[in-house]
Amino acid sequence: MKYVVCVPDGCSDHPVPELGGLTPLEAAHTPTLDRLAARGTVGRAAVIPEGMAPGSDVGNMSLLGYDPRQFHTGRAPIEAAALGMVLPEGQIAFRANLVVLNDDATEMVDFAGGHPDSEVAAAAMAALDERLGGPVPDTDGHLGFTPGVQYRHIMVAPDDWLDAECIPPHDLSGKALQWPTGPGADELRRIMDTSAEVLAEFPELAATHVWLWGQGTQPALDDFAGRWGVSAGMVTAVDLVRGLGVLSGMEVVEVEGATGWYDTDYEAKRDAALAGLEAGKDLFVIHVEATDEAGHAGDVAAKVEALENWDRRILTDLVERLDALGPWRMLLLPDHPTPVALKTHTTEPVPYLLVDSAQDGAGGTYSEPGVADEPVLAGHRLMAELLQREPQPVDPAGDSATASVAP
Ligand SMILES: [Zn+2]
Repeated sequence: MKYVVCVPDGCSDHPVPELGGLTPLEAAHTPTLDRLAARGTVGRAAVIPEGMAPGSDVGNMSLLGYDPRQFHTGRAPIEAAALGMVLPEGQIAFRANLVVLNDDATEMVDFAGGHPDSEVAAAAMAALDERLGGPVPDTDGHLGFTPGVQYRHIMVAPDDWLDAECIPPHDLSGKALQWPTGPGADELRRIMDTSAEVLAEFPELAATHVWLWGQGTQPALDDFAGRWGVSAGMVTAVDLVRGLGVLSGMEVVEVEGATGWYDTDYEAKRDAALAGLEAGKDLFVIHVEATDEAGHAGDVAAKVEALENWDRRILTDLVERLDALGPWRMLLLPDHPTPVALKTHTTEPVPYLLVDSAQDGAGGTYSEPGVADEPVLAGHRLMAELLQREPQPVDPAGDSATASVAP
């Protein structure tokens, strides 16, 4: 049996006036998806557990079959794992955004730091590390900066600061700043203040400061293959999702042309997943970010187009070529809604679709209204539904996971 998990990130939505009151999922022309829904099982899943923030870290952890209430320790350590970092005992990871603050550093102008060039940003991180890195007085830990991509970087720090209250910079866009409070707040503020002096040495950077948030200890995800008894791979262009793949011991395949944007190479992701399945993997995750980006941009047409791309450029061929490999089962759902009217993630349950190549389900329509009357399943239970088995307790993926990081 082959298994495929399809994740159109943030695809579920609300009725949109420009679409005559339909949701993007209803409005998009998706004949293959419609056909799969007609022979499969549709339902509703709570991918964001009550009380947790509706981030891609939480939602994707759910749909990989890990209950975020048990396994989630923060966002930054998942991204650190995607960079191949292993956090030493007593150390935590913060997300270090390059951001633009206004002249008197009272307001968040751009949480994405003017989308800096990754190479220049890496040089800035090296300079920050040089100036601020090293042992931290009055703790057993040390401080260090590791470059990521564009405005997204990592600061490692002592776990004494774990419980600091840090506000995500995208929640402060155009608003008065809220500096960290709680344990380590003074030190975090000092680092953010000092970063302004260091970044001033990089005139080609629009960013004025680093903003620290999303901290956590490294999560210990049970090895996916041991937990479920199937070998698994993943294609994604998003660090957070890649980090979950790495932490759970999946093979994360780098695909040329996978951008995390509207222009991503859908066919290349499809082909990479099929190649992995043909080479012997039991399960593959295909994650595409374009639907979420369209939601954040409030771009209805782009969201509909991204769904149509999913249908025409991934699902249609995928189904045909899966048939050639033998029996298969598919799970399709987003990690959270990203309604175009709100331009941000929400917490409500999302529609899911389960298809078995050999056995028809009750059939239905894959859309928000199509599943409105269905009972709500916990998102992390869907992996058990897909694989038709219960998870087995095993050791965390640990070293074998970090060994599978692509360079
Ligand atoms: Zn998003």
